[in-house]
Amino acid sequence: MMHLLSREESEKRERDTLSPLAAQSADTLGRCHGEEEHPLRTAFQRDRDRLIHSTAFRRLEYKTQVFVNHEGDYYRTRLTHTLEVVQIARSMARFLRLNEDLAEAMALAHDLGHTPFGHSVEAVLQELVIDAGGFEHNAQGLRCVDLLETPYPDFPGLNLTYEVRSIFTKKSSMAELLRKGYADPGSQRFIRGPRQPLLEAQIVDLADSIAYNSHDVDDGIKSGLLSPEMLEEVPLWREVWKSVRGRDESSCRHAAIRELINLQVTDAAEESLRRMSQPSQPIPVPESGEYPPLGVIPRQIEFSTAMRDSDRSLKDYLHSNLYHHPQVTRQMDRAQEMIRRLFQAYFQSPEQMAPQFRMRLAKEPKARVVCDYIAGMTDRFAEDEYISLFLPPSLVARNR
Ligand code: MG
Repeated sequence: MMHLLSREESEKRERDTLSPLAAQSADTLGRCHGEEEHPLRTAFQRDRDRLIHSTAFRRLEYKTQVFVNHEGDYYRTRLTHTLEVVQIARSMARFLRLNEDLAEAMALAHDLGHTPFGHSVEAVLQELVIDAGGFEHNAQGLRCVDLLETPYPDFPGLNLTYEVRSIFTKKSSMAELLRKGYADPGSQRFIRGPRQPLLEAQIVDLADSIAYNSHDVDDGIKSGLLSPEMLEEVPLWREVWKSVRGRDESSCRHAAIRELINLQVTDAAEESLRRMSQPSQPIPVPESGEYPPLGVIPRQIEFSTAMRDSDRSLKDYLHSNLYHHPQVTRQMDRAQEMIRRLFQAYFQSPEQMAPQFRMRLAKEPKARVVCDYIAGMTDRFAEDEYISLFLPPSLVARNR
């Protein structure tokens, strides 16, 4: 007689089939607020589902990755970027027998703290709230899932497991994020947990980079700001372009992007397996009892040396020729100016903000609340707000 697969059976499956280096959902350090386990879903599966149903996740659809959201329906947005990261992270986790559900949940969460209009606005917010603890998108991602999402009556945030939340401690430690007000105060109990930084987090970090390299090349070519021929000065592109040449232009581009992803994922999986098979150097436990952020530990999930160099030169090329292309920076300058003026307007007249943000003013510094309000906006909401606050109604009516 068939029966539903129980959580305990899924946990046993993880134990029986995953690498000894994988995170096991049954061994989670748990959540800030106590909850009953689900009878069917593991802790990480449940986190994945909570993230998909969150408001911040839905808003990713209308946030800029590189090309501003209204520039065309065929460019990547933060949502489609996130889904590509999920796909690559799941594949790599599966190849390496690591925890796919955890990698998927982390990938879904990894960009939740991004502002509208991409990285350029991050720099503006950082400057505007520097005295109130600054702004950084990973830290903001944690703030989002810990404090700003409010689907439950009994506690703030999504109450995710410590492991999924650790995707946000890439740049700063949990203790630091807690001190600056980015984390749920219940995080205190996770500060002294001597754990290795998770391999699933390293997978998502690398998958993020593989995804944006390839889709930015793709969108860059499609927009006409880059061309396959110009890109030939990048050795990695030269290699993939040579292997697909001879078809029509559009199918060549598709084949080249597929090959680019495939080469990077395969290289990373093979090199990571080699590193995971070597006896690992124990990472010394610092006095605080907390492991350092992801960025400062020796990585086990990594490209080979040759691919790392190739990857570097592709990134350098994209920086100079796409991210700083006058057509892209023009939009970014415009976005920065808009965000500066919105910040000033809400700071001077907080009653212009949505009610749930006005309510926060009683317990948090005004600069932080305004920053949260702006960071959570989609591109088009920020533009609509700008128009209604600063443009004369007659001009707005004429342009509609
Ligand atoms: Mg990303």
